[in-house]
Amino acid sequence: MKKSCLILLLVLHGCAGRGPYVPSAVSSGVPLSAICARYNVSWQWDGVTQVVILEYKGNKAKALVGSNVVVVGKEKIALSLPLHRSNSAIYVPEDFEAKVLAPFGITPGVPGAKVDWSRLKIRTVILDPGHGGKDPGARGPNGVREKDVVIDIAKRMKVLLEQGGLKVIMTRNSDYFISLGQRTEIASRSDADLFVSIHANSNPARKAHGMEVYYVKTRDKRDLDEEQRQKNEKIFTKTLNTRYSPQLNGVIADMMYASKTAESLRLAELIARDGSAHADTANRGARACRFFVVRNTLVPAVLVEVGFLSNRREEKKLNSSSYRQRLAEAIVRSIINYATD
Ligand SMILES: [Zn+2]
Repeated sequence: MKKSCLILLLVLHGCAGRGPYVPSAVSSGVPLSAICARYNVSWQWDGVTQVVILEYKGNKAKALVGSNVVVVGKEKIALSLPLHRSNSAIYVPEDFEAKVLAPFGITPGVPGAKVDWSRLKIRTVILDPGHGGKDPGARGPNGVREKDVVIDIAKRMKVLLEQGGLKVIMTRNSDYFISLGQRTEIASRSDADLFVSIHANSNPARKAHGMEVYYVKTRDKRDLDEEQRQKNEKIFTKTLNTRYSPQLNGVIADMMYASKTAESLRLAELIARDGSAHADTANRGARACRFFVVRNTLVPAVLVEVGFLSNRREEKKLNSSSYRQRLAEAIVRSIINYATD
């Protein structure tokens, strides 16, 4: 490269700065800066040649804005779409992480989590994306639907948890309707250790924003007597294949409930505090609730309201795949930290 070009060399440092919002229709894909910040990859972009150079622990990769080929060492990797530039940010297609990171020497995972998968005290997680089918859930001013946002986040969480060898059961894995009762029965029939419901919020106060995490606090008589709960207890003891007397089953259920409420609170607090920080959103706290799916599951259960679709800014964020990935990582990170403590 000529010296005059070097003077023009524009070097951007990979920082996760909050740039201006770019509508996803204009800039589909994921900002390269966000990926590089997440995995500590340093990168440079030459504004003249349009060459992007990535560096990680001595490994180098090269890509060209406008091309879908990334060269890692001697290997050429073809992405589904070319890299492109929009509002002085560079975007890479969705498959960049999956295809490029591993050859580049990075194990994609959950950044920041203290992961020793062998030490986790949980094995199976139920992910419960809210709504679905005829029930769209909340709808943002620009039409973004809760049911679409939450299933995408849940699917991303599933990938992350399965990478660590955990078993994940989804109460729904595409866009169909499933009742609240059925959701809790799926949990009771399984060997789940944890139930995590994912929702997006809505509020007439359009400025409301941030993450809230719900858990069940009290051991209310009306909760214990609830029909769905008793049904779930029966399903659960049948799954255990035990022949305890009804009294003993009742004792076991009581013990489970006491443990469930303490554990649910701990997980809810972790997600609210650390999850919101990692996702860079406001922490609206862990809150006690009487939501059906949370109170009728027998294992520790939380319901995460990831953000407010009624807030225009947050609706835009929730409509971007990179933010949904960030939320998925943030929640999974808290689940892992909860399970290794
Ligand atoms: Zn909801």
